[in-house]
Amino acid sequence: MHTHAYAAESATSPLAPFSIERRAPRANDVAIDILYCGVCHSDLHTARGEWGGVTFPAVPGHEIVGRVSAVGSSVSKFKAGDLVGVGCMVDSCQQCSPCKAGLEQYCEEGMTGTYNGRDRTTGENTYGGYSDSITVREEFVLRIPEGLDPKAAAPLLCAGITTYSPLRHWKVGPGSRVGVVGLGGLGHMAVKLAHAMGAEVTLFTTSPGKEADARRLGADHVVLSRDEAAMETQAKAFDLIINTVAAPLNLDPYIAALALDGVMVLVGAPAENHQSPSVFPFLMERRSLAGSMIGGIPETQEMLDFCAEKGVASDIEMIPIQSINEAYERMLKGDVKYRFVIDMQSLKDEAAKAA
Ligand code: NAP
Ligand code: ZN
Repeated sequence: MHTHAYAAESATSPLAPFSIERRAPRANDVAIDILYCGVCHSDLHTARGEWGGVTFPAVPGHEIVGRVSAVGSSVSKFKAGDLVGVGCMVDSCQQCSPCKAGLEQYCEEGMTGTYNGRDRTTGENTYGGYSDSITVREEFVLRIPEGLDPKAAAPLLCAGITTYSPLRHWKVGPGSRVGVVGLGGLGHMAVKLAHAMGAEVTLFTTSPGKEADARRLGADHVVLSRDEAAMETQAKAFDLIINTVAAPLNLDPYIAALALDGVMVLVGAPAENHQSPSVFPFLMERRSLAGSMIGGIPETQEMLDFCAEKGVASDIEMIPIQSINEAYERMLKGDVKYRFVIDMQSLKDEAAKAA
């Protein structure tokens, strides 16, 4: 199927119009007409080759919401017209113990990324959601529950699940004291979700201008992380800190803010490593430093259902796909409130004009 897309031809070229072919649905595939796609900082890291290992041209986008246009002969869970989502994975081995436990993101053979992955059947590079259609095996398609605005639901497919999963894994609930570092796409979802789970939430931000928004989104407290004295007042205050920052940081002030048995989980994936934190603060309070990657398919569906039930979705700014390069520049400045979402109609209109 001929598909219009936007791709980076190399790590130094801006995103530009590009054509791809989507496969016709295999027996277990769902073909999706893409309506919206969120813009994740991982898209930028990939398009600019910041993590290495990118096959160009690269078509980013892994916060996809669309309507089913066709299904393969053995598909039972979806039919044409259904509103569905696709997140960061489109396949995994389905046999190993993490896959069997619904933790496909930790597949022992490596999950297949929605973009810059290897199709497990053809070996071809995978292309993501900055495009007008995608074909995905049924097991990796999520149902968007009724009551969620499809545009504001798109970022849940990555930013939502990436923050929901550690909140669940470390059993956050009423009485938990949760810190969130950085109010961007992931951070604003972490604040909303932790608040919806009943936690007391503190935002650590470098942006004084985000304080009022943070409180509106569900933060009980806001700390300016570049204010050393303010950071010191947070000593031993948190059970869990979720670090979403996309740049290298000094972690020591955050480790000091963990209570006994507290955990700081890294979800931000900066191109350069954080400086190694000091050892003694880990010993003193039996603190831990952890990491977490997105979330499995069953947990992603659970998160979507939780969001529909609690009325939680992303705060978004809609953009036409033609503004994607400016959106990346704004993201680098922390100037996103709080997720860009591409209206794919802009791509369809551009393609129609060119035809
Ligand atoms: P984003 O929207 O750009 O947000 C990042 C936030 O970090 C910014 O809004 C800013 O918040 C803060 N920040 C940025 N530069 C900083 C600096 N130099 N010092 C301190 N704070 C800084 O990005 P995102 O889409 O949320 O993604 C965040 C990171 O998570 C990226 O590295 C992305 O690749 C990664 N990620 C990981 C996973 C996973 O599975 N683990 C999934 C998705 C994304 P303030 O203005 O509030 O300080
Ligand atoms: Zn992402």
